[in-house]
Amino acid sequence: MKSFPLSEKATWPLLKRLWRDHIRHHKGRLLLILILTIAMALLTAAYPVVIKRAIDLFTAHDPRILYQIPLVVILITGAKALAQYGQNVSVQTLIWAIIRSLQARMFDHTLKADIATIEQEAPAQWAARFTTDALSMREALTRGINALGDVVTVVGLVVAMVWADWELSLIGLVLYPLAIIPVQNLGRRIRRASRGMQEHVGVVAGLLTETFSLSRQVRVYRLEEQEKKRIGQALDRLHDTYLHIACSRARLDPMLEAIGGVAIALVLGFAGWRAATGGATLGGFTAFIAALFAASRPLRALGSLNAAMQEGLAGMERIYDVLDEPLKLEQKPDAIPLPQGGGLIDFDNVSYHYADGRMGLDSLTLTIRPGQMIALVGASGSGKSTALSLIPRLYDVSAGILRLEAKDQRDVTLDSLRSSIAYVSQETALFDLTIEENIRLGKPDATPDEIRSACVAASLEFLEALPEGLQTRVGTRGQALSGGQRQRVALARALLGNPRILLLDEATSALDSKTEARILAALGRLRHNRTTIMVAHRLSTVKQADMIIVMEEGKVVESGTHQQLLSHNGAYTRLVQAQSFDDPVPGEDIMEPK
Ligand code: ADP
Ligand code: MG
Repeated sequence: MKSFPLSEKATWPLLKRLWRDHIRHHKGRLLLILILTIAMALLTAAYPVVIKRAIDLFTAHDPRILYQIPLVVILITGAKALAQYGQNVSVQTLIWAIIRSLQARMFDHTLKADIATIEQEAPAQWAARFTTDALSMREALTRGINALGDVVTVVGLVVAMVWADWELSLIGLVLYPLAIIPVQNLGRRIRRASRGMQEHVGVVAGLLTETFSLSRQVRVYRLEEQEKKRIGQALDRLHDTYLHIACSRARLDPMLEAIGGVAIALVLGFAGWRAATGGATLGGFTAFIAALFAASRPLRALGSLNAAMQEGLAGMERIYDVLDEPLKLEQKPDAIPLPQGGGLIDFDNVSYHYADGRMGLDSLTLTIRPGQMIALVGASGSGKSTALSLIPRLYDVSAGILRLEAKDQRDVTLDSLRSSIAYVSQETALFDLTIEENIRLGKPDATPDEIRSACVAASLEFLEALPEGLQTRVGTRGQALSGGQRQRVALARALLGNPRILLLDEATSALDSKTEARILAALGRLRHNRTTIMVAHRLSTVKQADMIIVMEEGKVVESGTHQQLLSHNGAYTRLVQAQSFDDPVPGEDIMEPK
């Protein structure tokens, strides 16, 4: 499992992008948050003022203390509670809107990406970007926005302190900036570690999905110990990074606490010395201490803000890595719809290299005329699936030109290209929907009649034995159906859209040969105006093709009809002789349960 190259992005540009793309347009909500935050801060800063007033009244034996102070306290706390609730709700609403729009953009981007980009990472790793990364951002954004409030609160409290006792205030103001240096250093370390952690989370999720989806194999091959070790190692790495981050983070609070302690000690010492020499009121002193304590929570929050932000930035970086990955498959701005035609396909010296440098196709040249039924044969790994995946542009050719209806595939709109092609891949995974819904994906507005005839063509008689028929749910990836049943549902889906190009990659491999023969006969009847390319391993299937193409190492080595190729006595003959075709002796076919 590989992942995207790590790119350390600077903090400010990252935040600026977030602001520009996702925050800026929430003006109303931002204003509301600002007002509520300032209200909260001012109400907090009002506490010391009230305390000073109370103590002044108290020392003056003023009876007004009885009604004035309790009333004011209730009003302030009540208003603050309301402001706090409103602020919290609007902050979370804003943050989830931001995350939601980031997720939408990321998903959009991944939908447009070519298959090679998507296959670079395990599906679970992709999923982690939408879940864990988004959550780390939520945390950071909450802290970031609340920091705004903390700043206003601290400023308010500092004003209150200066008002209460300016001499004492000076001590605190000199000490706090000292805390900044260690805070920043820690932040950097945490950011780096967080990024690693999020990657580990993805890897662990990928491994776990793999083990769970292969749980039959794990039991049958007694791989429990091996899997335990493999997952164990990944969990250990995750554990170590978690711990590393936790330890860095744990250092922060005590450090800030200690600096705060020094400040308070100095303040108290100075106040004591001053009291001994006379001067300053009790009210002023108490108000100052109250403000100092009130300021310690927001100050500490500001101190650990950087660390929390860095964790979120690491998540944001991973999300932007995806968004910044250029789309290799972009449609040209002047792309035209695929011209009318009968499905002319022309591979002109087409090569394809996989991301890891492996050769998929090596200068393949091949023309398939409209209406032909082509069988693609060759040893596994010879590039048959690669050739088929290039036609609907799941990947872009690395070299050469692939033309459809005599047009370079890349000059044609993706939509028109893909709507002219039906493709049944080697692994037919169905969506967890009903059979009918799965088939309907091939043509969403199909009439019941069209669905019925697609089912007949794809030989879906097994439906009659299912109590719910077409409405049977197929389970995750179609697990509730047999392999052969899944293939037939996928075939029905492909046939429903009546595509002009039909690509079948071992699409009938799990069928018994009688069912396969029935399907082939149906395909034969429907073949006019349609080009069919099938990869098959059964001689009886291959024989029916108008032309057989033999591939070896990403190249065409032979082509012709069954008879021609046999008389040619080349690669095809060798394949037949080596019994590469798993054809049963006629009449002795073993029926698989339908
Ligand atoms: P076939 O379908 O004829 O069995 P493929 O087209 O699947 O062969 O594979 C052709 C070559 O490309 C093989 O050497 C295979 O290892 C390589 N290949 C196929 N898919 C990938 C992939 N996703 N990443 C890297 N190499 C691949
Ligand atoms: Mg294949």
